[in-house]
Amino acid sequence: MADSKLISLSRYREKKKKEEEDRRYPGKMVWLHCPKCNTLEYSEIIAPNGRTHKCGAPVNESEVDLDLRAEFTITLHNIKKIDEHIEKNSQFKRIKIISKSLDDALRALKNSEETYLERLSLAAGGKIDPYPGKIGDMADKLPIRETNKMGLLISEFRFEPEKRFTP
Ligand SMILES: [Zn+2]
Repeated sequence: MADSKLISLSRYREKKKKEEEDRRYPGKMVWLHCPKCNTLEYSEIIAPNGRTHKCGAPVNESEVDLDLRAEFTITLHNIKKIDEHIEKNSQFKRIKIISKSLDDALRALKNSEETYLERLSLAAGGKIDPYPGKIGDMADKLPIRETNKMGLLISEFRFEPEKRFTP
């Protein structure tokens, strides 16, 4: 009797743990396009009544439902990849000029990934844990649209955002 209770309790805990590991963080991000400046940016702030660009033109908006946790997991992976590239590049520092501009480009890229992480956390209203496990084993959870030449993963949300505004 006591034994079976113990078993069901541990099963329950296991189930809870698995649920927590698989839990999605549904949320929204929005792409913003200014038709006058032809700029594209994303935001975690949803503005149901629309908004105006700094140039004064009304902004076109495209709201996207997504799993913030999946985006977070993908972006952490990208940052790790960029760090590997930075590390590799640092071994070529002797060839100064090329390596410096590549280094700058990599750091700018890293910066933009870190900004995205911050925005995702803001959209989630707090801390996000990435999905546990290896990125290769969670293809069903991650909306990966493309892997680029650098090995960075492009999620559905960040894939060709300009196409969201072309009829
Ligand atoms: Zn504008």
